[in-house]
Amino acid sequence: MSTPNRVLITGAASGIGNACVRLFNDQGYIVLGMDLNSPDDDSLFAGFEQGDVTDGPAIDHVINAFEIPTKGLDALVHCAGMTGHGSATEIDPAFWSKILNVNLTSTFLITRAVIPHMQLNGGGSIVTIGSTFSMIARDSMIGYAVSKAGVAHLTRCLAIDYAKDNIRANCVCPGLIDTPMTSHLNAPGHEDVRQTLINAHPMKRPGTAEEVANAIAFLSSDAASYITGQVIGVDGGFTAGKQVVPEARH
Ligand code: NAD
Repeated sequence: MSTPNRVLITGAASGIGNACVRLFNDQGYIVLGMDLNSPDDDSLFAGFEQGDVTDGPAIDHVINAFEIPTKGLDALVHCAGMTGHGSATEIDPAFWSKILNVNLTSTFLITRAVIPHMQLNGGGSIVTIGSTFSMIARDSMIGYAVSKAGVAHLTRCLAIDYAKDNIRANCVCPGLIDTPMTSHLNAPGHEDVRQTLINAHPMKRPGTAEEVANAIAFLSSDAASYITGQVIGVDGGFTAGKQVVPEARH
């Protein structure tokens, strides 16, 4: 019998990360988690550490706490992230730095921390989380969109640099997904914003965290053994094109 794969999932306490925890656990992985917050249910984790993905020493602590130098790591799924609104003149430099740090610099920090261990291990898979706004710009979200475009490109760079080490890196880009990150859209008074966002998706519904986790699990698995450097929408068709005439006339 082969040894179960070990996966480190960040953002593991909530939303897409937590859906990955459940799915990878179902698939027999040894699941290691990291998040700023504690998960509601820690029974699915072989190990969980509270920590900030923007903090290099906190990442080093997690690597050591999970004995990655000796036990190795087969897959990283980096879901921790934040959102925020504002155009260039609406946000301030402190917010710009914060969102770039949480979404983009954390991806640099955690991937550079795990890659040497994957190299020694004979390879591995990295899945980062971008957004539809990794691929196309959007109004009033400059910090988020630029940080997520950076995540996509960083992932392509990793794929090219470490293909020689049998390390694959892919970026999953969700559309509107119902998670705590988007729950403010369910508050009274936001119905029209939510509906406008839903209407921008050709499938006319939000996605679920489980639908995103399915794509992440596929890319992390050997079934995706020849897929690397890809930026893949899980977005109900959002990035496929513009619906110019929403009600098609025949
Ligand atoms: P979520 O808010 O439910 O979960 C995010 C998790 O990341 C939280 O548990 C939070 O504590 C953790 N986190 C945030 N900053 C952290 C830090 N500095 N260190 C450690 N943990 C931190 O959100 P989600 O919807 O599950 O989002 C997961 C990823 O998917 C994010 O990168 C987000 O940008 C991306 N995404 C979400 C959507 C969506 O519609 N929900 C769409 C596109 C992309």
